[in-house]
Amino acid sequence: MKKWLLIALVLCLAAAPLSGCGKPANRYTYDFFDTFDTWVQITAIAQSEDAFRAFAADFHAKMRGLHALFDIYNEYDGLANAKTVNDSAGERPVQVDPLLIELVLRCKRFYEPGGESVNIALGPVLALWHDARAAALEDPASAAAPAQEALEALLPLCDIGDVLIDEEKGTIFLSKEGMRLDLGAAAKGFAVEAAIREADAAGIGPYLISAGGNVAAVGGPEGGWKIGVLDPAYAQGEGDFLAILRLSGLCAVTSGDYQRYFEAEGERYGHIVDPGTLQPARRFSAVTVVGPSSCDADLLSTALFVLPLEEGRALALSMGYEAIWVTKEGALEMTQGMAALME
Ligand code: AMP
Ligand code: MG
Repeated sequence: MKKWLLIALVLCLAAAPLSGCGKPANRYTYDFFDTFDTWVQITAIAQSEDAFRAFAADFHAKMRGLHALFDIYNEYDGLANAKTVNDSAGERPVQVDPLLIELVLRCKRFYEPGGESVNIALGPVLALWHDARAAALEDPASAAAPAQEALEALLPLCDIGDVLIDEEKGTIFLSKEGMRLDLGAAAKGFAVEAAIREADAAGIGPYLISAGGNVAAVGGPEGGWKIGVLDPAYAQGEGDFLAILRLSGLCAVTSGDYQRYFEAEGERYGHIVDPGTLQPARRFSAVTVVGPSSCDADLLSTALFVLPLEEGRALALSMGYEAIWVTKEGALEMTQGMAALME
């Protein structure tokens, strides 16, 4: 049976439009690999190369700043970031940049409507899985999943209600020692959204950001940006596109278990953990969602990877988002409106 895997990938662009003043606008690209553990590519239709280079440099700098702010592994001189918040758990509230507060608030607000499937306070549990994955990659012969009792013992430290925000003071406080935020489910999507909002795009026409499974189409050339959704065989050098999407003013985000995982005793352990079982979510190979907000699409793609199909479908529809699921058996499911976005 064919097993599918999805990667949202920029295929190519529709023809570059002419600019208002009659000078042809050109298509430019710029990429970097130093943020969010992923390859980021910017493609834009711009009046001049200088305008594009300035925009791309600004966007890159914004992404670097956001990466540092949401980092739970590294400290940065003079910056109170997510690691500072984690290291101060049970001790003190930490004053942080408003963008970190905004990300945490967006995640907290999504928690209940999102079926409690995305929990940024699951950090202690996710850290055990992260360490098991790192050890397995280092020494595959001794790969092992964490013990279920060890995972369950951490549950009292994973209550999102214990993540306290004081908006007036601009602080985050993890109220119990040992608590730990993990922002991985939404950080990249939020960062793309924030960088789009804040980078200076003067002189830039429609542009497309592709950040490892997070794609944002800001405006669009005629007919939209063409985005290919790949099947798993492609990663091994063969296989077809599962779907081609035409996006204009929309974001597409994919969550899957094919990139970050480890194997132990013949079992594959993906990086998205079901908060109900504390085990990797095993319903799907991949889920791609499409909608207006990159942050919400990122939260939703993780949620839909965890939730049962019909619960996920109802959630996507309640938010006005479209989705494609690929089951472990290789079957495709999608929301009704998805077809209208496909070629
Ligand atoms: P994504 O690739 O956007 O689906 O996010 C996956 C990342 O989010 C993982 O690498 C973890 O850092 C984190 N994560 C995994 N499972 C969960 C969960 N149930 N709730 C919150 N964060 C999670
Ligand atoms: Mg996500």
